[in-house]
Amino acid sequence: RAKKDGRGVFRFFEEALDIAARKRRQMELDLREALMTGQFRLNFQPIYDLKADRIGGFEALLRWHHPTRGEVSPVEFIPVAEDTGLIGGIGEWVLHEACRHAVDWPDHVRVAINVSPLQFRSQGFAAIVMQALSRSGLPARRLEVEITESVFLDGEDHVLALLHQLRNVGVRVALDDFGTGYSSLSYLRSFPFDKIKIDRSFVTHVADDASSAAIVRAIVDLAAALHMEITAEGVEDADQLGCLRGQGCDSIQGFLLSKPVEFDAIARLLPARLAKAA
Ligand code: C2E
Ligand code: MG
Ligand code: MG
Ligand code: MG
Repeated sequence: RAKKDGRGVFRFFEEALDIAARKRRQMELDLREALMTGQFRLNFQPIYDLKADRIGGFEALLRWHHPTRGEVSPVEFIPVAEDTGLIGGIGEWVLHEACRHAVDWPDHVRVAINVSPLQFRSQGFAAIVMQALSRSGLPARRLEVEITESVFLDGEDHVLALLHQLRNVGVRVALDDFGTGYSSLSYLRSFPFDKIKIDRSFVTHVADDASSAAIVRAIVDLAAALHMEITAEGVEDADQLGCLRGQGCDSIQGFLLSKPVEFDAIARLLPARLAKAA
């Protein structure tokens, strides 16, 4: 009897795997279709420059409106796009679309795009960036590329060469989700990032938890010593803003200022100012 139950559990497990694999396969087909039929669009979330006291840039965030499932989160579909190699085409679309939009913004306003490790390490990434810049007419200094620590996981040499290549033409490079990934700090010594983005998980508790506050302070000090800017991600309330301002963050991003918005809402957002008291 026990044997029989065991087999049942095994069959159940097999079926679950089968369903997961089918779902993934379906999503791969859907992603391919999405890219061809224009189901992707970009939303933009403002990054507020605390020193200049104005919006200094926007992060482009990918949105997928699936014909039957509705909005699907990038957290769900980006990993599938990475596994299936579709991230190259999708990432190229993001790059062109972001540059095309940003070229009409005021000159001090940058656009930041997220680049997957796989996309970043792929052959021709630098050429694709150059093409997006020249085709849109966006000056390189107004484009910021966000990568995560995980690009360094499979060896640093190629990545460092590429980072320097981007830097040499004037593209800015930011380290996203700092403190959550592979945390050997050695790559900070090897490359002068323009910016470090403190992950939301530290920002959320910065006002009410001493450990979070200490970590944020340490990251801010580290960045200052290395002449890198600091952006705090996921700032949702005035207490957090107060702490981050006090600790010397250069810029903040989060629902307190604005959620990611459609392109059409940007002109209205640009004059926004954060309350000084906070
Ligand atoms: P990320 O680059 O760290 O982007 C920040 C995420 O935090 C965004 O989620 C944003 O909507 C969310 N967020 C911003 N402020 C707040 C806040 O105050 N509170 C909370 N709870 N969340 C906040 P989103 O748009 O769902 O994107 C998730 C992740 O998907 C991104 O994390 C990025 O890693 C990835 N992603 C998004 N667009 C792209 C893309 O075009 N290419 C690639 N490769 N990855 C992308
Ligand atoms: Mg990002
Ligand atoms: Mg992030
Ligand atoms: Mg993230």
